[in-house]
This record gives sequence, C-alpha cells and structure tokens, in this order.
Amino acid sequence: MKNVVILGSTGSIGENTLNVIAHLGERFRVFGLGAGRNVQRLAEQIGQHRPALVSIARDEDVPKLRRQLDALGISPSPPILVGIDGLIALASHPEAHIVVSATVGAVGLRPTSAALERGKRVALANKESLVVAGEVMIRTARESGAELIPIDSEHNALHQCLRGVATQHVRRLILTASGGPFRQASMDEMKAATPEQALRHPTWKMGRKITIDSATLMNKGLEIIEASWLFDMEPDRIDVVIHPQSVVHSMVELIDGSVIAQLGVTDMRCAIQYALTFPDRWPTPLPRLSFAPRLSLEFHPPDTRRFPCLALAYRAARAGGTMPAVLNAANEVAVQAFLDGRIGFMEIPEVIRSVMDDHAVRPAESIEQLVRVDAWARDRAQHAIGNGGGWTGGSA
Ligand code: NDP
Repeated sequence: MKNVVILGSTGSIGENTLNVIAHLGERFRVFGLGAGRNVQRLAEQIGQHRPALVSIARDEDVPKLRRQLDALGISPSPPILVGIDGLIALASHPEAHIVVSATVGAVGLRPTSAALERGKRVALANKESLVVAGEVMIRTARESGAELIPIDSEHNALHQCLRGVATQHVRRLILTASGGPFRQASMDEMKAATPEQALRHPTWKMGRKITIDSATLMNKGLEIIEASWLFDMEPDRIDVVIHPQSVVHSMVELIDGSVIAQLGVTDMRCAIQYALTFPDRWPTPLPRLSFAPRLSLEFHPPDTRRFPCLALAYRAARAGGTMPAVLNAANEVAVQAFLDGRIGFMEIPEVIRSVMDDHAVRPAESIEQLVRVDAWARDRAQHAIGNGGGWTGGSA
C-alpha cells in the first residue's frame, strides 16, 4: 500500500485525486491532506478519508476546523499542522510515499522541494514550482533519486509519448492548447473582457487562476517552461499549437518526421491516476474517447498579437535564471488584480512585461534566492497596478 499526501486537497486537482484514490481501493491510502482556507470541505474530507495528518493555511482556522470535526462526530481528530511549515512537514514525512503537489501558485515551491529532497515520488500539478525553480528542483531530484511525474495533461501526455524514445531521436515537443474562451474574440472584445467571461473555459473545468491563465495563454507559456525542465529541452524546440477540441493532449515529433500523440477525454483523473500508478496501469471508470459518429480535430498556430503572454513566456524561458520566477510572480499578481476588477484583461501582459523589463536576470541558485526574487516581483507588480499601471500604456 502506498501512502499519499495531497497538498491542495480542497482544490480541483485535489478533489479529483481523492476521487481516483477512492476508485483504486486498497492500493493507496490518503495519508495527509493540506488545504488553504476551505475548512468545511477539509473537515468533510477528513471524515471520509481519515488521514493521519492534516495542514491548513492559517492559525486562526484551527479552532474552526476542530469545531467542524466535532460537529461531524470525527474523533479522534488527526494532528492539525499550520502554514507553509505544515505543508513541508506533510511533504517530507518519512511515511509518505507519493506527494501530489496541487496547491495553486508559488506557495507550492518549498513543500515540493522538500518532497524531492526526501526522494519521494512527486505527482506534480503545481506547474509554478517548476516555472519558478525548475533548475533547482531537477537538480534536487537527480541528487535524491526522487521521481517527478507530471499531472498537467500536456506534460503527462508527453511523458507517455516519450516512453521508449531515445532523447537523440526527439526533434521537438508540441504542446496543444484549447485556445481558451477568447480564441475567436476580437482585440476590442478582449480589452473589454470581464472575469466572468474569462472564467468560462470551453473544454476543461479547473481552478480560477489556471482558467484565467488559459484565457491569456499564459498557461501554455508556463507549460513551455515546465516542459523544458521536465524533458530537458530548449524552449525553442517546444512549440504550441491551438487545438480547440482538447482531444490530443500533446505530441512529440521525432527526427524521422513521425509524430507521436496522446489522445483522451478531457478529464484530469486519467493523468492523476497515471502519475500515481506509473509504470503500472489500472482501469478507470472514466468515459472512453468516442470516434463515432464523427470526431474532427483541428490545429492552427496561436495568434501572439492577441495573446502576448505566450511571447513573454518564451522570453523568460530563453533568459532563464531568475526571469521565469519574475514572470510567474507578476502573472499571479496581475491575474488576481484582474479577478478583483482592478485591471483589464489585456493589461495582464502589460503588468508582467513592465516587471520583466525592470529585472536584471541572475543565475538561479537556491530556493531561498528564488523566493526573494518572487517577493520582489510581486511587490513591483503591485506597485505597477497601484500606480494605475506601471506599463507603457495601451494594450499590446
Ligand atoms: P484550485 O484553485 O482549485 O485549488 C488550489 C488548492 O490550493 C486548494 O486546495 C487551496 O485550498 C490550496 N491552497 C491555496 N493556497 C494555499 C495555501 N497558502 N496553503 C495551503 N493550500 C493552499 O486549483 P487547481 O486544483 O485548479 O490547480 C492546482 C495546481 O494544479 C495549479 O498549479 C494549476 O496550475 C495546476 N493544474 C491544474 C489543472 C486543473 O485541471 N485544475 C490542470 C493542470 C495543472 P483552499 O481551497 O482550501 O483555500
């Protein structure tokens, strides 16, 4: 039996992971759950899965969680850890075999790193960890023998496509993107887009931040950086293609011209299960991909004029060092500002660009250094937004 820790258990990936584990039966045990502020949902999960340990984001929520557990008649309650230290304690616990890293944003950085240091299998959904600190994370995993299996559907697809393929036979990686809700929108419509419109993803049901990232195509940009670290590939050998049906999850082109693709339904439980059971495979109760009566697949290049975040991500990926951490932090702040109604949709890339322009890139050395860079970039982005825009004006 494998003990599984889920960081971000109350989120979209976290809930799907619990669902997968419930179907896998005795082979996996929910050992630890880490959540943010959704105390009620965490209490219900504790009642259902009986983890040995749990963690929540804030001290003041501990009494609330205890009250919820009492109300549900859950006794004894598992020890409740708090904050980033709580997540790190869960991720590095000696009895944890697999750590599902599924918090949102840079908060996943230290816990993911702690799990890798201890040589765990990390089932990685939190792409921001690799974007911010890919070099350090990959080095840590190599030194400790930890396994990093991607949950992100595109990288999970690439992981599957690359099995049995020699590195020197790969010409390029091709990430597919649905194109998001604004695939066919005009520039004027995008400038006027509301959070509600941007949160309407056409094919995937996900958390709010990643849904906005999908609408700006920054999600694909972050994925380019994630793929470059996971598969040791220069950014210019990673291409993006718009594929509105989201059936082909990604592709690998080989030097002889063959293209290997992974296809499937748009349900994250498939990728999550793969990351838990790899290299084994088990049946799933998910719907199958249907080729009847007719399945049409379209592919076309992305429009970088309407989606400047993609070009910003390539720029950060090529610059390397501390620049991807700056890109990520500025994006998180800008996305939150857009959700709060403080900036417009097309101002998200302008905020990010202004922070990147201000940053003198340095080699990435340690998690601590990258945490400092992350804090600087957040501050700079807040300042730009607070000033009514530190960018050069207008939309890209
Ligand atoms: P959600 O917003 O649905 O969930 C985020 C989770 O992180 C919640 O459990 C939340 O807790 C928790 N969390 C937030 N802040 C903290 C904190 N300070 N301490 C502890 N926990 C915290 O996000 P998703 O599940 O959609 O995404 C998670 C990650 O997976 C992201 O990095 C995303 O890019 C990636 N991903 C997601 C996909 C998807 O289909 N959803 C697909 C591919 C990648 P609470 O709710 O209790 O506050």
